[in-house]
Parts: sequence; C-alpha cells; structure tokens
Amino acid sequence: MKKPHFSLCVYCGSRPGADPAFAAAAQAVGQWIGGHGGQLVYGGGRNGLMGVVAQATLDAGGRVLGIIPRALVEREWANHNCTELLVVDTMHERKRLMAEHADAFVTLPGGIGTFEEFFEVWTWRQLGYHDKPVGLLNVNGYYDGLMAFLQASVAQQFMGDAQLDLIRVEAEVQRLLPDLVQAAGLAPETRLDAL
Ligand code: AMP
Repeated sequence: MKKPHFSLCVYCGSRPGADPAFAAAAQAVGQWIGGHGGQLVYGGGRNGLMGVVAQATLDAGGRVLGIIPRALVEREWANHNCTELLVVDTMHERKRLMAEHADAFVTLPGGIGTFEEFFEVWTWRQLGYHDKPVGLLNVNGYYDGLMAFLQASVAQQFMGDAQLDLIRVEAEVQRLLPDLVQAAGLAPETRLDAL
C-alpha cells in the first residue's frame, strides 16, 4: 500500500451510543478517510464507534493504525483487522503515539475516555506542544451542552476566546474533515470513486 496522503487521529466512543446518527457519522468519517487516501489512527478497539470507523476506513481502501495498551486488548476487543496494530505497555504510551502519528485530530461522540483524549490534545495545542488542528464533530447536537459550558467558562474568564477558537466545531463530516486536513497543510487524494 502506498504512503497515506494524511493521518487523521479519531477519538470516539467504545460504545455505539443511543442515536443511530453516531454510527452513521463514524461510518462517514471512515469512508472519507479511506476514500481520500488517508490513514486512520485510533485506539485499536473493535467495540462501538471505534470499530465502526475502523471497518469503514478499511472498506474504503484506507490504512488503519490501531494503538492499544496491553491491559485493554481483551476489554476493548483489540481489532486484529487493523493494517497495523501496536500493542503498547501503557495508556500514556498509546496517547503519545497516537498524537505523534496524527496530522490532525477529530473527536466524535463518546464517553469519558473520548472526553479525556479531546481535552488532552486541545490543552497540548494551547500549550504549544503541537500545532496540529483539533476538531469536534458535533453529531446531532451531542456536544451542544459541552459547547455551552465552554462558552460559560469564557464568560467567567477562566479561558479566552482564543483558546476556544483553537477547536473547529462542525456537525458535518464533509465540512470538518477537509477543513482539518487542509489546516494541517495537506491535500486529500481526489479519487473519482470518492466524489
Ligand atoms: P469511551 O469514550 O469512554 O468509550 O472511551 C473511548 C476510548 O478512550 C477507549 O479506547 C478508552 O480506552 C480511551 N481512553 C483514553 N484515555 C482514557 C482514560 N483516561 N480513561 C478511560 N478511557 C480512556
């Protein structure tokens, strides 16, 4: 397989969530990555939205790099269909490697693990540990409550607008993903079958 045009790190739920729109969005994200010659970097699990985005990427001809801590191999059902599956010793190593391999980050709906990963790459960005684009896919308003809370934090002067502006928030896969890849200074592959 040739070198991917870009690597997108996806954080998302190890559960599917209640709204079928979440799995549909995860499917669309995988299709977009695979359809544009990209690589998915993710947590290497088969459960929930994580499994959906990985399978959709593979089905669309994309490369999938899964990175999972040894202790979670059984709990999260390590995905042996990944193009490459790295089993690492610690959660810290997983997150460091995921971040290193990514050109940009996107967070889909998920639970506490997803939140933690999103906040980590966002805080790393504001501290200048990396300068990669950070996106939030707000499927069916799932993150409306979080955005309202973050606005309240700005209003209460615990952070500035500039910090909030570091994250790109969109409801549509087709808007957010091209924007993130372009902001990373990369160009998605244009394939006729992906249009
Ligand atoms: P969740 O959103 O809770 O379903 O978790 C999604 C992914 O986040 C899973 O692969 C978790 O292993 C991962 N994750 C990353 N950091 C953490 C953490 N500190 N606590 C729990 N899960 C985490």
